[in-house]
Amino acid sequence: MLKEKKQRRPRKMIIANWKMNPMTEKEAKDILNVLKRKIIKIFGAETFVCPPALYFATLKKSYSGKKISFGLQDVFYEERGSYTGEISVEQAKDFGAKLVIVGHSERRALGETNDIVSKKLKAVLKNNIKAVLCVGERERDEHGEYLLFLREEIRASLSGIQKSMIDNLIIAYEPIWAIGKNYKMSISARELEEVIIFIKKVLSEIYGKDEVQMVPIIYGGSVEEKNAEELAGVPLVDGFLVGHESLKPNSFITIALALSSRKK
Ligand code: PEP
Repeated sequence: MLKEKKQRRPRKMIIANWKMNPMTEKEAKDILNVLKRKIIKIFGAETFVCPPALYFATLKKSYSGKKISFGLQDVFYEERGSYTGEISVEQAKDFGAKLVIVGHSERRALGETNDIVSKKLKAVLKNNIKAVLCVGERERDEHGEYLLFLREEIRASLSGIQKSMIDNLIIAYEPIWAIGKNYKMSISARELEEVIIFIKKVLSEIYGKDEVQMVPIIYGGSVEEKNAEELAGVPLVDGFLVGHESLKPNSFITIALALSSRKK
């Protein structure tokens, strides 16, 4: 009898996207201090904190443990030179960044195109740093047009990214309609399951089914304490990207625990 091939799964992950918060370095340290004290409880889920770039070095230096890694919310695709205000992946790497968020909808709203996103992705992946590609529709429609949008956004953002480069790729499905709201306006478990299946299909079309098995697909958009268990229960979800709730360290820990293997 043929044995069914066991599906490999990526390790669960949780990423804090602090956005342009908090307002002072002291507050940033306070948030991290709570996380540092409580993070020990989190089994299984890899934890990343992406503070504003200005706080990165201080926070990173203040933590010598292994449970939290630090990332950036954006980088530029050129290595060095006359690009006022930008930070390169090489500089981020020198400071110990382990992950970069790329193509967040809030950056796309400021003019970042799929073309720019793909250049940034390439720069990050080339440097062996984890790249979180954010994708998601502005709104849903009953005819499923949003899926066509999503397919095109994924394909265009990944243009030029070869199969050999996807070991450090993570896809964050972040529907814009669910970002920055509250758990009541977030996605349902059923909707999330359906869209993850769709994203896996699109990735398989590009790279092949076996090749994308280990590409984590995580969700972001008003994950809060109240819906974390439900969404973590979606069999195909590999983790969360958490915005506003990640500034409340106790809530963030509760969300991370929902992903933890202890609960499964
Ligand atoms: C985000 O912007 O990446 C995000 C997930 O935000 P929020 O959790 O606030 O919806």
